[in-house]
Amino acid sequence: MKTILSISMAIALAASAFAAGGPNQKFTCDMKTYVPFDATTTVTVECPDPAAAKWLGSHLAEWFGAYAPTVKAAAATSAALPEGDEAYAATTDADGVKISANTLAGVRWASYTLRQLVIAKRGTFKTEGYIVPKLSITDRPHLGFRAVHLCWFPEVRPAQIERAIRLAALLKFNYAIIEPWGMYGSEKHPWWHWPNPTMTKAEVSRLVAIGKDLGITLIPQLNAYGHATSARGCTQKHAMLDLQPEYEPLFEPGGWNWCISNPETQRVLRELIAEMHENFGNPPFFHLGCDEADPQTCPECVKTPNDVLVCRHITGLAEFVKSRGARAMIWHDMLLERGDPRWKGFVHHGTKLTATLADTLPKDVIICDWQYSYGDMKETRKDWPTMGYFKEKGFPVAGCPWMNANAMKPMADYIAKIGGFGFIETTWHHLRGADWQKMYMSAAYAAWGSPVSHGVSFQRSLRMVGHDMKIADYLDTGHLNYQVPPGWWVDNN
Ligand SMILES: [Zn+2]
Repeated sequence: MKTILSISMAIALAASAFAAGGPNQKFTCDMKTYVPFDATTTVTVECPDPAAAKWLGSHLAEWFGAYAPTVKAAAATSAALPEGDEAYAATTDADGVKISANTLAGVRWASYTLRQLVIAKRGTFKTEGYIVPKLSITDRPHLGFRAVHLCWFPEVRPAQIERAIRLAALLKFNYAIIEPWGMYGSEKHPWWHWPNPTMTKAEVSRLVAIGKDLGITLIPQLNAYGHATSARGCTQKHAMLDLQPEYEPLFEPGGWNWCISNPETQRVLRELIAEMHENFGNPPFFHLGCDEADPQTCPECVKTPNDVLVCRHITGLAEFVKSRGARAMIWHDMLLERGDPRWKGFVHHGTKLTATLADTLPKDVIICDWQYSYGDMKETRKDWPTMGYFKEKGFPVAGCPWMNANAMKPMADYIAKIGGFGFIETTWHHLRGADWQKMYMSAAYAAWGSPVSHGVSFQRSLRMVGHDMKIADYLDTGHLNYQVPPGWWVDNN
């Protein structure tokens, strides 16, 4: 029996993206009729990739232990699948479970959808098996590139980063951009971070492998222009110069920008890019940052017109990234002139000179257009003129929201309409609490093309991630480290 109520309940449970009315999904579900999902169940996997059934078998064993269903591989696909490598179909009924997909990626997404809907069998003291609602789904993503952008601050617990990566995969994002914020433990340049960085090369390799297994590719970021402090500007901290003043020549006075006319800066940046790219497993993208830069001010940099200097800098690094078999990504804001009336109400931080980069940068650089609806976080609009501008200029453009949740669906729809590159959910220093839930859930739905639905799916998914990580520390549960601030119960009188 298909009812509005049952669909909304299932959507609430199932985390990302198969609502009635979405362009890519067909979903029927009877939330009153559950069928077994346990050791008596056979999951038939129809997928041309023989690795898919093996992957599913090992993960069902990990997730459901002794109650894991048996997996049976079938090469031929009987279901009418939507187009695309990531499309999937799944059915559950009394005869068992069937998953159909063209690739392992589709099998992964199908298994995550089912996992989000499976609950423990009722009526016992401890779990004695699992059940799943009777359902039929076909699904495919709205956008092929769906990323979260994660900030590895000194204040962020390493477990939080792993939880965020695993949760993003479970919500069917397929990329995570990792920005180190002074926490990357470079061996080539051990001065380029705060003391005792937790983003060690071994930890990065471990997370990259986890991501690869779960279907989410990690992309490194290095701020190669402004934001060279690797610290938030509002704190006046500098991850390098506060404790190691001898590296001053690499930065502009004040330290916000790199001194890009310095050949030593160019050497350092290329060596860091190479080290991080290799450490991340040579992924197909590398993010160079490049947002919110100030005009260069040192006596050497000002000898060259700013547009020429910056264009040469970014183009050179983009070519270096390309020589490593990857594509550069940059934030968009320096490419739009501050004061240009066309961009009123949109993020635009460039000068007349840096705005010329929109004509001079190589067209394979991916422009990450971050629009946060400042002043009206509830803004919804159908057209995103800055994104349309970059598309017309010939760039691949990604729409990047933050906490403006209501804007996410229309933004993703617009990117899909203009044939844009993808969608990047930025999280900054808000990867906690209700903000984390709102950002992840709204972005996941938007990127999969469905109206947003909220419910218990975030907390269920977050708990699954904790189980997968075998979390044992109170601080790494829930979406906040503390229920009340530490010291709250101390009587200071
Ligand atoms: Zn300089």
